[in-house]
Amino acid sequence: MNLLKKYNVPGPRYTSYPTVPYWDTNPTEAQWVQSIDQALSEAAAQKVGAALYLHIPFCQSLCTYCGCNTRITRNREVGGPYIQTLLKEWKLYQERLGHTASGKRLPLTELHLGGGTPTFLSPDELDSLLSRVLETVDVQRDHEFSTEADPRVTTRDHLAVLAKLGFKRLSLGVQDFDPKVQDVVHRVQSEEQTRATTEQARELGYTSINFDLIYGLPFQTQKSIENTIDAVRRLRPDRIAFYAYAHVPWIKPSQRRFTEADLPGGDDKRALYELGRKMLEDVGYREIGMDHFALETDSLWKSSKQGQLHRNFMGYTARNVAPLIGLGVSSIGDSWRAFAQNEKLLETYQSRVEKGELPLLRGHVLSAEDLVLRRHILNLMTQMKTSWARDGGTWDQYLDQVPGRLQELVKDGLIEFRESDCQVTEKGRPFLRNVCMAFDARLTRQAPATQLFSQTI
Ligand code: SF4
Repeated sequence: MNLLKKYNVPGPRYTSYPTVPYWDTNPTEAQWVQSIDQALSEAAAQKVGAALYLHIPFCQSLCTYCGCNTRITRNREVGGPYIQTLLKEWKLYQERLGHTASGKRLPLTELHLGGGTPTFLSPDELDSLLSRVLETVDVQRDHEFSTEADPRVTTRDHLAVLAKLGFKRLSLGVQDFDPKVQDVVHRVQSEEQTRATTEQARELGYTSINFDLIYGLPFQTQKSIENTIDAVRRLRPDRIAFYAYAHVPWIKPSQRRFTEADLPGGDDKRALYELGRKMLEDVGYREIGMDHFALETDSLWKSSKQGQLHRNFMGYTARNVAPLIGLGVSSIGDSWRAFAQNEKLLETYQSRVEKGELPLLRGHVLSAEDLVLRRHILNLMTQMKTSWARDGGTWDQYLDQVPGRLQELVKDGLIEFRESDCQVTEKGRPFLRNVCMAFDARLTRQAPATQLFSQTI
């Protein structure tokens, strides 16, 4: 039987474990802050800093494939009040962590702007927001600041302001260069626009540029993917995320602009990925974990070689920093022992911050079992292997059901399962998600606590 057909089941992308639909033990505000505080103490002992994520939800038009939390508007006046709310939320964190009273400051190693479209804000607005955050933290010497950007609205001034503040990594939404595909997904963006932003960033000193691409979009064909990857090869970004399109029109009604009949399915969809992968590898890109590629000169590849790759809600990162504090509507934070997501409705988020509350909507406090399984799933996602020898070679009771669930994968040659470890084979790479699912106890024993489709998480 064709392996792609056999293992073609919806599955999570494991940017967290448990995945969001299975969160069922909301932390209180006090528990959440306490878990951050604990993570900060542990990180300090290991001389590791923290990460801040700032979500800017605004976009000037809607791309129909989009699964992000966005607010579509052309009204530029919304930026100012939103910045004030972000700053107030950050102040609430500082107060709760006792930093304002004690003079302590967050040791900041990573800062990431995501959206939405961070460059929806004007260069002056970005400058004012970020300068005010940065003056309240201790920026670590080896810091990495990165931003997402949409080449259609990003100017040289945006890039220059961010470069001045220490940003060196840029992630550009591209998705596909084919005009027919761009038209149906409502994102018309020429190669020239993407080239201009890429070249300006390089001139300004950005050292790592990522392109986001998607396969499985409506009307994509082998030929259109070939043309897209050809354009990507001409622009030569340092990293590429090559995601599978997730069709969830019951959650994202904008995806009703096309039908399932317009989408490449099953084997055809995977063949698009395989074509793209081969073309990228032919010119020096290396596949990393799931859906990611990097040049050997990029820190993501170096960290994957050194076994230091990490994965969180932003995808793969070159190292593990803790905790991750998310600011802004719908942002997710991760203290390792707990997750917390902010309100997803902009008005509710703003009004709760105005009232002086951390605007937490939901989250999860990890159980002892979650912590063990999280470690194994993270190992698999970042290193293609996991081992239980580290715990003195003893078998952990939480893994009892795993060998049975892995049997079929062993039989098909997708993994090697030994006394003290499990390794994904070269043949098994496309099925990494399925391997992780065998370690996912919650997926196999309970219905999700929320109705979100897990493949989008
Ligand atoms: S620009 Fe990005 S966040 Fe905004 S709608 Fe398009 S894909 Fe979604």
